[in-house]
Amino acid sequence: MRIFSGIQPTGKLHIGNYFGAIQNMVKLQRQNEAIFSIVDLHAITVKYEPKELQEKIKDTVLDFLACGIDPEISTVFIQSQIKEHAELANLLQTITPVGNLQRMTQFKDKSQKENSINAGLLMYPVLQAADILLYDTDIVPVGEDQKQHLELVQDIVRRFNNRFGEIFRLPKINLPRNSARIMNLADPSKKMSKSDPTGCVFLSDSPEIIKEKIKKAVTDSLDSIYYEKEKRPGMSNLINIHSSATEIVDVKKLKLEGYNGQHSKYKERVAQSLIKKLEPIRKRRQELEQKPDYIEKVLEQGRERAQKIASQKMEEIKKAMGLV
Ligand code: ATP
Ligand code: MG
Repeated sequence: MRIFSGIQPTGKLHIGNYFGAIQNMVKLQRQNEAIFSIVDLHAITVKYEPKELQEKIKDTVLDFLACGIDPEISTVFIQSQIKEHAELANLLQTITPVGNLQRMTQFKDKSQKENSINAGLLMYPVLQAADILLYDTDIVPVGEDQKQHLELVQDIVRRFNNRFGEIFRLPKINLPRNSARIMNLADPSKKMSKSDPTGCVFLSDSPEIIKEKIKKAVTDSLDSIYYEKEKRPGMSNLINIHSSATEIVDVKKLKLEGYNGQHSKYKERVAQSLIKKLEPIRKRRQELEQKPDYIEKVLEQGRERAQKIASQKMEEIKKAMGLV
């Protein structure tokens, strides 16, 4: 099976990216042919600083490899280096209803933060469809926030195949076991996002910073510790982080009664589990920072592999559409 997933170079990766998507990518790469992309064309759909973009791309690659994405068995490449992504997005736009794009939660959330809404932000899921479909993807490991986009991609596949013949495979979404959507520590009504660094725990944060951030996480005034997503979003988020860091999916087995209901005591435990989980990633990242030539080689090899698949698929698509 072929798997594909992308991450935007919009900042350093956080624990939501890791528990929501990367951890699954790392697992899936062993039994499948995996293709992972740093999706820079997506990152420019919101406000950004051109001078910083290359640095952010490198940061994302480092985080990726530090998490265990293995370039020996997986393809890692930068989206904009393969021109077919933009080309296919352009073609897929012609079969995508604008109304479907306007209904997307991510579009609504992100356009609220912008002064003026650019068309690229609206087209985001169409470009995402191009990313996935260019590589005949079977499985897309992503976080729960991307479920709606994946359903739209499936809709695009049905429309395209109906109109032009069986060209695309129907990709399946792969969510983490406990559907971990990690929320913002400062405001647990929002998801943790790179583009909103307050309230993020980054994979490269030191143990001291992690302790400090978890200590300050917003909870509530109930002096007890239990999971109730709607009524106790802050507390439930901490429990979710604890569960993800320890890989104990069954909340009962986390022994939450052992803290006398004291949030500060429980937060220490959450921080400790997170520090333990992230320590090897942080170490590996520091090692990789010393090897810029190696990173270049990985990306060059990735570009070549991706280009081969993308060019072939594009020919097939153009033929079906009557463009050649
Ligand atoms: P941005 O704020 O720029 O959109 P982001 O943090 O949402 O950044 P993306 O690059 O958009 O990160 O997404 C990368 C992957 O991480 C996707 O698979 C997405 O579903 C997943 N993801 C992002 N945020 C979370 C979160 N808070 N919890 C779980 N998964 C997440
Ligand atoms: Mg996002």
